[in-house]
Amino acid sequence: MPFSKLSLAPAMIRGVQAMGYTEPTPVQLRAIPVVMSGKDLIASAQTGTGKTAAFALPVLSLLGAHRAGGPRVLVLEPTRELAAQVETAFRDFSRYSDIRATVLHGGVGYGRQRSELRAGADVVVATPGRLLDFLQEGELKLGGIQILILDEVDRMLDMGFIHDVRRIIQRCPAQRQTLFFSATVPPEIASVASFALRDPVRVEIGAVKSVTQLITHAIYPVHQEQKFDLLLALLSAIDFNSVLVFSRTKHGADRIARRLREANHSVAVLHANRSQNQRMEALEGFRSGRYEVMVATDIAARGIDVAGVSHVINYDVPENPEDYVHRIGRTGRAQAVGDAFTLATPENASDVRDIERFIGREIPRLKLAGFAYKAASAFPQYREPQGRRGGPPSRGTPSHHPRGKPGAHWGRR
Ligand code: AMP
Repeated sequence: MPFSKLSLAPAMIRGVQAMGYTEPTPVQLRAIPVVMSGKDLIASAQTGTGKTAAFALPVLSLLGAHRAGGPRVLVLEPTRELAAQVETAFRDFSRYSDIRATVLHGGVGYGRQRSELRAGADVVVATPGRLLDFLQEGELKLGGIQILILDEVDRMLDMGFIHDVRRIIQRCPAQRQTLFFSATVPPEIASVASFALRDPVRVEIGAVKSVTQLITHAIYPVHQEQKFDLLLALLSAIDFNSVLVFSRTKHGADRIARRLREANHSVAVLHANRSQNQRMEALEGFRSGRYEVMVATDIAARGIDVAGVSHVINYDVPENPEDYVHRIGRTGRAQAVGDAFTLATPENASDVRDIERFIGREIPRLKLAGFAYKAASAFPQYREPQGRRGGPPSRGTPSHHPRGKPGAHWGRR
């Protein structure tokens, strides 16, 4: 079904066409009619499924034209990167209307945000802390809010924003439409939902824990002291457009980036110790292709939208299985194909099993052809599970590596 059949405002249909989208994604198909009907919504959808447009397009259609008198739509986001990105999406979609969107987030001065608010915005996209600052200052009033959107609610709660979020919801008029978007819907969300939403329609895209089927996962067992060499070897063996490398720590990220630069890769770094300007420059440079590799930590990379990421490499196995899903969510965004490789030392074996349990499937163990593994690299911890050895890969795991990907299976003849 084309976008033109979804009762969106003509200006938004033009906006979508200008973005080059031809067909709505599943979450857009299901959420847009609910939002247009004025009902409350809880949508569980991963980043990368097109959820931003699933709320931005109908909300902008309902708003019509710019009106003075303060914001009518409030979008809450857990991180500044995500807030900036979602505001850009609102601006992109509304380019053929006079609707005004603005963004409020920490890490930068107040001046510009204050003057944009004073100039009059229909849509405010904000992180909770900075929004509360402006409310306290009296610079922002939420009395005119007609639609409240909480995006990435699970992450917002994980990051400890629950009290801020409740305070913000209480400042919005009771008569409003409320939309929740979340990758997962744990019980804590149900409790916020019962307080914030009225008779919501539920839209669920894919199984809650599903990692998109388009992504090819692989574990590369390796000893700690050979990890960096294996990363370099993988980078030279794969045919990539842009690679996101995840490190558990900020120092680790800096170190990996430095060594990659020494090996002549163009590298950006994204972590919480970087200034807002450095983070923006890193993201912008990675998006535009100036950097081919971005090294990031989990929090910093959460929610960033970098279309075209061809590979995610977990240099460190994530401690939290949910972070695996979030990291992997960077590839395979809106139907693109991506690969996700995890370098795993023998010590990581139990974390890897936790991840497999969490995503509900086994991840094949691969060996990089031509890499000089140390003589003692047998990795009994990473044998293929018994049921699979020699047999066909289980459903959802790749039977081959696309684009001539290197690798033989461990424990298989
Ligand atoms: P999101 O899940 O909102 O972060 O979107 C993920 C990516 O998919 C973004 O780069 C969007 O620009 C892109 N996208 C969203 N909807 C569509 C669509 N209908 N067709 C093509 N790309 C889309």
